[in-house]
Amino acid sequence: MNAYTEKIRELSSNLLREGKVDLVIGFKQGTVPMATVPAIARTPEEAATFVWDANCSLNLANYLTNRTEKIGIIAKGCDSRNIVNHIVENKISREQLYIIGVPCTGMVDKPSIRALFDLEITQFKEEGETLLVKTLENELKIDKQDYLRANCRTCMHRNPVIHDVLVAEPVVEQTLEDPFKDVKAIEQMDDDQRWNHFETLLDGCIRCYACRNACPLCYCPTCFVDESNPQWVGKGQDPSDVRTFHFLRAYHCAGRCTDCGACEEACPMDIRVRDFTRKLVKDSLEIYGWEAGLTLDQRPPLDTFKPDDPDAFIK
Ligand code: SF4
Ligand code: SF4
Ligand code: SF4
Repeated sequence: MNAYTEKIRELSSNLLREGKVDLVIGFKQGTVPMATVPAIARTPEEAATFVWDANCSLNLANYLTNRTEKIGIIAKGCDSRNIVNHIVENKISREQLYIIGVPCTGMVDKPSIRALFDLEITQFKEEGETLLVKTLENELKIDKQDYLRANCRTCMHRNPVIHDVLVAEPVVEQTLEDPFKDVKAIEQMDDDQRWNHFETLLDGCIRCYACRNACPLCYCPTCFVDESNPQWVGKGQDPSDVRTFHFLRAYHCAGRCTDCGACEEACPMDIRVRDFTRKLVKDSLEIYGWEAGLTLDQRPPLDTFKPDDPDAFIK
């Protein structure tokens, strides 16, 4: 058992045993290697099954919305930023939460690891920066840093921005000369190239909405795509409806997206949906100097109104 798992189990079990929280939200092992599942523990025994490794990439803030209990939650850097979003947007209160912060060393990109093998993966083990991956016929030791998810490679907030306790010493944050090379490459395309890029990007979308359901920002009681009166967008596979869903969802995330990657992680078709939200993350930073989920004292820029706004459109 790795040190993070051990500490998470100990802290979560103690919280429940001492009655400080009603439940703890964490991860348990899934049924196949490289799969972890968000889990709720209500007893110390249940908390003793929690795990932590480089596959715990879903965003647990997603399970906080409108809950009324006293909650313990395991939070890596990006989860903690979405917890901040949730508090600022009145979806949960700080007083309800006991945040077990995890200084994060990055999550792995499962499709690129699976692509190394012809057969199904039967074992995945993380030993520090080395990953041991086995199939029935083959085994490889690979460097974790070479197989990080794209968002983890550009993440500069790996330590939780808000927490009650940390499971380990803070990690050194990355400093990157240019975290937005991917967005700039798309910005530099001409109109036709950019159109083709996004058209191809969405080719495989089956509109399962897993990306939306995994995103902690998408908590509307009725999503615009599910609304039937009025019906904002058609329900089928017509390309204009598929694009409308993705464009509108991205705009609903503007100034709020933490680039946690849960949307991409959940997509069964491996579609790079962050190509939409990354542009808005970059614009929020450049236009407003804003990174989502870093402070409890300010609302996202597109969520505020100032009567003295210098732009004429608001008057
Ligand atoms: S985005 Fe950052 S905090 Fe989140 S999993 Fe990746 S490295 Fe960790
Ligand atoms: S999860 Fe993937 S396939 Fe499903 S709606 Fe989102 S982009 Fe489309
Ligand atoms: S849009 Fe995707 S990357 Fe952004 S907060 Fe939601 S799940 Fe995370």
